[in-house]
Amino acid sequence: MVDRLVNSEANARRIAAVESCFGSSGQPLAVPGRVLVGEGILTKMCRKKPKPRQFFLFNDTLVYGNIVLNKKKYNKQHIIPLEQVKLESLEDDGLLKNGFVIKTATKSFAVYAATPTEKAEWMGHIQKCVNDLLKKSGKKPTEQHAAVWVPDSEAAACQVCRNPFTFVNRRHHCRKCGSVICGPCSKNRALLPNQSKKPLRVCNPCHNSVSGKNQDGNQNSWAGNADSSGEDDSDDEGEENPSWSSAPKFYHGSNQLSYRN
Ligand SMILES: [Zn+2]
Ligand SMILES: [Zn+2]
Repeated sequence: MVDRLVNSEANARRIAAVESCFGSSGQPLAVPGRVLVGEGILTKMCRKKPKPRQFFLFNDTLVYGNIVLNKKKYNKQHIIPLEQVKLESLEDDGLLKNGFVIKTATKSFAVYAATPTEKAEWMGHIQKCVNDLLKKSGKKPTEQHAAVWVPDSEAAACQVCRNPFTFVNRRHHCRKCGSVICGPCSKNRALLPNQSKKPLRVCNPCHNSVSGKNQDGNQNSWAGNADSSGEDDSDDEGEENPSWSSAPKFYHGSNQLSYRN
């Protein structure tokens, strides 16, 4: 299984290929002990709309990027340490099917696989890597995760004062609960140490709860899910419609995982 791949030539070749696809826009990925476990396309819910992203699952990190040319060129590389990842399955919701949330302390977002099998494969492999890492390090799973952002399209009006958004009344996101709010409802900043050393924008209800005026934690309960990293994935260049037929590939022996019940 994964351990067997550690020093294999095939693994080294695959990692070198990923590196070269990111070119100078990416970090060096060849680290001793690192194994490329799988790769494939997942649709990631961004602030404006869902977009295809290429994901690479290593035994210690999850890397993804924008698809400039499928299997040839990717950019906007993101690296997520798996140790702090928590997964959460999503119910199918209209056109949004086979989804799950990838939660970390600093950012959380939803992704959607092409089929239920692919969803099960991704979740199974990611979870197994997380479990193995935690077992090895003896650490406890991270309990504090960034809220998943409500996508702009889900909120025509401020989720606090209900005033409609317009060209002048712009949308903002609360970094604590992920809701979409207007400027006047998010004048306050709060220290959220997991996400940043600097105080971040929070909605008034969250500010009250943080400052102890209100016991209502106002935890995010919206089902829609966008990226909560604060970055606006407004990078529209690149392939919008990659070949959807390309199923993810996982590099392991045939019978180690029991994600199929
Ligand atoms: Zn408002
Ligand atoms: Zn809030």
